[in-house]
Amino acid sequence: MTVLVLNCGSSSIKYQLIDPAGPARLAKGIVERIGEDDGVADHAAALRQVIAELEAECGPLDQLGLAAVGHRIVHGGDRFAEPTVVDDDVERAIEELAPLAPLHNPPGLTALRLARRELPDVPHVAVFDTAFHQTLPPVAYTYALDRDLAGRYGVRRYGFHGTSVSYVSREAARLLDRDPADTNLVVLHLGNGASATAVRGGRSVDTSMGLTPLEGLVMGTRTGDLDPGALFYLHREAGLSVDELDRLVNRSSGLLGLAGANDLREVHRLAKAGDAAAQLARELYCYRIRHYVGAYLAVLAPTHAIVFTAGVGENDSWVRSHSLAGLRHLGVEVDHVRNSFAASRAQVISPDEADVTVLVVPTDEELEIARQAAGLVGQREP
Ligand code: ADP
Repeated sequence: MTVLVLNCGSSSIKYQLIDPAGPARLAKGIVERIGEDDGVADHAAALRQVIAELEAECGPLDQLGLAAVGHRIVHGGDRFAEPTVVDDDVERAIEELAPLAPLHNPPGLTALRLARRELPDVPHVAVFDTAFHQTLPPVAYTYALDRDLAGRYGVRRYGFHGTSVSYVSREAARLLDRDPADTNLVVLHLGNGASATAVRGGRSVDTSMGLTPLEGLVMGTRTGDLDPGALFYLHREAGLSVDELDRLVNRSSGLLGLAGANDLREVHRLAKAGDAAAQLARELYCYRIRHYVGAYLAVLAPTHAIVFTAGVGENDSWVRSHSLAGLRHLGVEVDHVRNSFAASRAQVISPDEADVTVLVVPTDEELEIARQAAGLVGQREP
């Protein structure tokens, strides 16, 4: 059985051909620079290039026994708590959710539409970044806003990175040799975007990202938590428009705004060279993580493990040790020798006697999408 996974951004389409039973990739690639002068003209041309590349590598697609095409869709609102086979109604629903994720949903929808046209005989499955968090209880997803207005416009916490958190939580339980239904985890997905999630018994019960992927941790270019009053103030006093404020908090803040670099490797380089702004940026990045870890230890009580994943979480031992420093009284400790290895595979980085195990678990969102799509399509077969 094979599944084609498509992850479409505003200027690129990433693809992987996966057998959901195993981690090996049958093919993978990326078509970039969509819409740029020296790139492909548009998403339609990019998708045709994806199919051409796949056929050059693996032979005709209709002979591959494609079980499904899995699509990563960022925002499923409160309509989608599960992966969903796409028909015209689902496509329309995703379109209606676009205002909630104006940067993220439209490219995914474009790829979905085109792929359904190019591959009409294969089921297309939408897998939503928000779906895993649909288990949040009302106390975790409700903002203390006017109830009617919030209800009318769907203003609540949705949470993101759910596909990754779902995969990593299962892997973590396996590593701990525990029943997932009896395992409580704090999952720290630290990539370009970053989030913390409290997982109780395999279900998300709190998460740091909100209505949009802006809230919570300090990210590469996003502020994370910010007093909304700061936006009104900057609007009135600095004359920034809504669009300028949107760009400010999403694209030119976070590590980039603080240190002039959005990649932590560069921030470390600057900090080591004595740059005070970079030193503060990385301290703040870790302090915000510690803040959320503390909150979720209180939410979960007890917590069995804290799990680091994604680009920073898997690679940056400095961030791992600094963000959990000083928490020994809460049973949280990092072993510096164990932590110093680069994690190409899952591993424990806490000392054996610690109450809370600290883990590094590489994420694999594409494999999770392939599994969810295959699982759904498999159920539908007679
Ligand atoms: P995305 O959120 O786009 O899926 P990733 O999970 O791949 O991103 O994370 C990308 C980020 O990971 C980069 O911006 C970079 O800051 C960080 N990163 C990658 N490798 C390392 C490393 N060795 N040390 C520190 N940070 C790293």
